[in-house]
Amino acid sequence: MDKETPGCARCPFEPQGRICQDDQGKGPPFCPTLNKPEVLARAQEELMKPEILEFALQASVQEADGYADRELGYARTRPLKPRLQEIVEFAGKMKYTKIGLVFCIGLRREAKVVESVLASNGFTVVSGLCKMGRIPKETLGVRDDQKIRIGCFESMCNPIAQAYLLNEEKTEFNVMMGLCVGHDSLFLKYAQAPTTVFAVKDRLLGHNPLAAVYTIDSYYRSLKAPAQE
Ligand code: SF4
Repeated sequence: MDKETPGCARCPFEPQGRICQDDQGKGPPFCPTLNKPEVLARAQEELMKPEILEFALQASVQEADGYADRELGYARTRPLKPRLQEIVEFAGKMKYTKIGLVFCIGLRREAKVVESVLASNGFTVVSGLCKMGRIPKETLGVRDDQKIRIGCFESMCNPIAQAYLLNEEKTEFNVMMGLCVGHDSLFLKYAQAPTTVFAVKDRLLGHNPLAAVYTIDSYYRSLKAPAQE
């Protein structure tokens, strides 16, 4: 990695001693707070658009609402709410009434629960499953040996259709559950309403991809070696 490439993930300083959190703090040579004033200025300009500002304001308020005992000082704050509750509360703060829910067929049971929680909190929920449309995978150029069920019909995932469905229904806020890597990217690229991710798919790790990160020095050490095709 060259020294110029912005890299907050490589920042060597403790969080409270970083220039992005403290005006007396430090930043490394590849620090965007120190080196990218024009990017920050453009972002600030965008943020000041009234509808964006309101969204960002409520997101920040929701962030702090997720902690208990703030009045006792930072060291004593405790997490208070599951993400599902945060989504309900944030959508309420934004006064949304219509929410889109896109999900993977593998999470259909979970999606049913999320749908009912949102609906019981007064939201109209438009939902779209990844396989909607029953388009054969061959349409993408997928060979039979590249399917999951070799020799059988297989519907392709259809994230653009999921996005178009929600766009047509004019959802105000979307919730994404467990779309595959890449399918999620296409949904995000084509969806018009802002989207939050409720769950990400990890088939092996029970949709908890961080398990591989937490065990990177033991069971998943092979991930640190360059992948070999
Ligand atoms: S903005 Fe600068 S100081 Fe903050 S994390 Fe990134 S590199 Fe580190």
